[in-house]
Amino acid sequence: MIWIVISVSKEYSHGANHKQEGTECWYVYYLNEYGKITSKRVNLLQALYYKTKVKKQYEFLCEECGNFVKGNINLLKTQIACPHCGE
Ligand SMILES: [Zn+2]
Repeated sequence: MIWIVISVSKEYSHGANHKQEGTECWYVYYLNEYGKITSKRVNLLQALYYKTKVKKQYEFLCEECGNFVKGNINLLKTQIACPHCGE
């Protein structure tokens, strides 16, 4: 399975157990094999490891013209405009 790690973030869990409330949790966000953004809970060591794997820049393939367009990973959430095809 190929993962593309998008980001690693620290969040606080609010479990049903009140003693555990406010526990720090690390989550890794990645693209799974279907291109869907997925998150997974990891421990601190894994989080540090995944942080080194975070990709900042992507190359998107334009289906219209077949050119690769470089873009920030945040563009995944929006539409990517291809400079070769115009607006
Ligand atoms: Zn294009």
